[in-house]
Amino acid sequence: MTLSISADFDSGNIQVLDASDPTRIKLAIAPDTQSAHFQWFHFKVEGLTIGQPHGFSLTNASESTFNRAWSGYNAVASYDHENWFRVPSRFDGKALDFSLSPSEPQIWFAYFEPYSRARHDRLIEQALEKAGAELLVTGKSVEGRDIQLLRKGDGAAGKRRIWLIAQQHPGEHMAEWFMEGLIERLQEQDDPVMAQLLSVADLYLVPNMNPDGAFHGHLRTNAQGNDLNRAWQDSTAEKSPEVFFVRQQMEKYGVDLFIDVHGDEEIPYVFTAACEGNPGYTDQQRQLEAQFRRRLCEITVEFQDTHGYPRSAPGQANMNLACNSVGERFKCLSLTLEMPFKDNDNAPDAHTGWSGKRSAGLARDVLTVMAEMAPVLR
Ligand code: ZN
Repeated sequence: MTLSISADFDSGNIQVLDASDPTRIKLAIAPDTQSAHFQWFHFKVEGLTIGQPHGFSLTNASESTFNRAWSGYNAVASYDHENWFRVPSRFDGKALDFSLSPSEPQIWFAYFEPYSRARHDRLIEQALEKAGAELLVTGKSVEGRDIQLLRKGDGAAGKRRIWLIAQQHPGEHMAEWFMEGLIERLQEQDDPVMAQLLSVADLYLVPNMNPDGAFHGHLRTNAQGNDLNRAWQDSTAEKSPEVFFVRQQMEKYGVDLFIDVHGDEEIPYVFTAACEGNPGYTDQQRQLEAQFRRRLCEITVEFQDTHGYPRSAPGQANMNLACNSVGERFKCLSLTLEMPFKDNDNAPDAHTGWSGKRSAGLARDVLTVMAEMAPVLR
């Protein structure tokens, strides 16, 4: 059988440079459309010889957006596109190399367990039919894909309005796995914690902010090459309709807590970043952030507050970030939640690393903290 490598599917990304030697197949990651960013890869290999070593080399890894991301990183692979496992990988300062002797004739490799558009469509259905959410309104991406805003709750006056948005950066597929875990908890019966939360708060959910970027196998940008998490001051219906839409809806409904769900390429821990560099940062925001972090640390080993981004100096926040922009506009608890591409080094799992399942599990614990904090958000 001849070896064939393809990436012409949902969130696929690879260029084949030279596949003549199956022990060192030379590949490159393609940049985002109209952008120099690249990091995300996802491809299928068919025609493998079972039991024989096959090697793959991402030859342009060192030129990627986050070139420190490759040290301590292992690629993910799956024989059925359902069950993903880590493949020991090596970064030599230029290329990322991994090899395996397959037990099946076909395999997929990716930067992280992909969250497909088909699964997204099922998730929306599940949210509406089983979790009792409603579809408030549907925005459109640059290429016309749907961006659903779901609400769980009746929108009654006085309810706290909790917003979670995910995957502004389209290569950060863990963000939608997180949303799946959150929606699954919403559909379970007899959960006193959720009953408590929903008695005082409504949830506003955008499970995928950047469907075009995800579909095209981008790391960072929408179909026009714009980084959506650098567009919260000057979004327009033409350049970044995805952000423009969500900002409009936030103005319409209001925000009392905001979490923007992301993945971090370099840091092997789950952490949050907040809006402490905002010009109008308040003491209440500071206290709520501390409470959120302390409680999530207590509830799960998956979260910690030691490793993360350097804190912004007062008044030095980049207001184009969603977390900062929303925190300033609504003077509410506003966080970016970052999950690793690598693993959580406080609870490492050599087989899966950080995974879709662990992202979903984290969402359940975040809901618990929200339930505790909902009464004190204002
Ligand atoms: Zn991100």
